[in-house]
Amino acid sequence: MLIRSGDTVQVITGADRGVKSRVIVIDRAAGKAIVEGVARVYKHVRRSQKHPQGGRLSKEMPVQLSNVAFYCATCDKGVRLGARFTKDGSKERFCRKCGTGVGQIAPAKAAHATGGDAKKKAPAKAVAAKK
Ligand SMILES: [Zn+2]
Repeated sequence: MLIRSGDTVQVITGADRGVKSRVIVIDRAAGKAIVEGVARVYKHVRRSQKHPQGGRLSKEMPVQLSNVAFYCATCDKGVRLGARFTKDGSKERFCRKCGTGVGQIAPAKAAHATGGDAKKKAPAKAVAAKK
């Protein structure tokens, strides 16, 4: 799951279909996210210490992550994300449609660099496989 809190997502199904909004919280274990302004419900609350007035509270309910897609500004729509290593060995997320990188997810590591090093390693593996 490559969607993170703070990302802009587009709702792809349900009553709020088409809405573009920001992810507030992600619950990876449940596979759900709370998205700003999406799946709003009125919760009726009784008078209490926390809510001395009581009344109707408007809040967002969690939505299934499969019902939202990462919003790519370049493509202007919800897209799937991939993860890849860049030339300097850092890991980044990218749009599977247009290939635009959308932010680093791990710092640069020489072992993962996709520069000249990776090409040198490849033939060595081929030789080992033959043996
Ligand atoms: Zn894109």
